[in-house]
Amino acid sequence: MGNQITPVVLKLGGSVISAKGKPSTPDNEAISRLAGEIAASNVNSLIIVHGGGSFGHPTAYAYKIKEGYKDTSQLIGFSKTHQSMTILNNLVIDALIMKNLPVVAMQPSSYIITENGRIKNPDFTSIEKMLDLCLIPVLYGDVVFDSKLVFTILSGDQLASVLSSYFHAKKIILGVDVDGLYTSDPKIYPAAKLLNEVTLDELKTLLSEIGTSDFTDVTGGMYGKMVEMISALEKGAEVIVVNAGMPGRIFRALRGMDVLGTIIRGV
Ligand code: ADP
Repeated sequence: MGNQITPVVLKLGGSVISAKGKPSTPDNEAISRLAGEIAASNVNSLIIVHGGGSFGHPTAYAYKIKEGYKDTSQLIGFSKTHQSMTILNNLVIDALIMKNLPVVAMQPSSYIITENGRIKNPDFTSIEKMLDLCLIPVLYGDVVFDSKLVFTILSGDQLASVLSSYFHAKKIILGVDVDGLYTSDPKIYPAAKLLNEVTLDELKTLLSEIGTSDFTDVTGGMYGKMVEMISALEKGAEVIVVNAGMPGRIFRALRGMDVLGTIIRGV
C-alpha cells in the first residue's frame, strides 16, 4: 500500500468561511459551496487547512495568546480560543461529509509543539497514514504548546506551508477574500494591480521592499502569508492565490484549470 501521489494543500482563509466583524459567526453558505467545489474537483490526494476568521482571532487577541504565557488570567482565553476553532472546524467537517468527502479533523493543539511559534520536526505519521488511504486530513489554525513560550498560536498559513514541504506537495492553493496578490492592499488602494504570475525571486523583492513602496501597507494578513510560503516555494511547490469567495475559483484551481488569481512559482 502507499499513495505515491503528492497531495495538494488547500488553505481556506478564515475571512472566507466566517462572517466579517461578527464574532463566532460562520458563513454557512460559503462553507457549503466550498465543500461542493472540493467534492466536484475530485482531487485524489488532498490536505485541507482552514483559518479562524471571526472565530479564533478575537479571543486569541483579547487574551494575548500568541505572545505566550504571562499569567493565569490567560488560561480561560486559551480554552475559549481552542473551543471557537473546534466549533468552526466541526462546521467545516460537517459540510465536507455532507458532500461525501472522507475527511478527518486533525487538532493541531493535541500533537504539534512549536518552538517560538515555529513548527520543528513535526510528527505527521497519522496524516501520512490518512493520505495512504485517500482520507482527507483537515487541520486548522489553533492554540499550541510551545517549548519557549509555554503556549502560542499556530497559523493555518504556517501549517499549510510546513505540510506542503513535508509531503512534497506540488501545489498549495490559498483561498482568500481578494482576487490574488496585488501590488498593495486592494481594499485600501483601489489602484492596486493584481499580479498574475510571480516568481519566487520577484516575491522576495516585493517583500523586501517593505518600507520603500506601497507594499508597505500589506497587512499582517497577505504579507504574513507570503513570508510563510517562501520555504514551500523553495522546495518546489507552486502557490496559487485565488478568491475563495467567488464561486468556481477553488474548483478551477483544484482541477488545474486557468483561473483568475496569482500563481507564484518556486524553482
Ligand atoms: P485569511 O482569510 O487567510 O484570514 P487575511 O485576511 O489574513 O486572510 O489576508 C488576506 C487579506 O490581506 C486581504 O483581504 C487583503 O485585504 C489583505 N492584503 C494586504 N495586502 C495585500 C496585497 N498586496 N495583495 C492582496 N491582499 C492584500
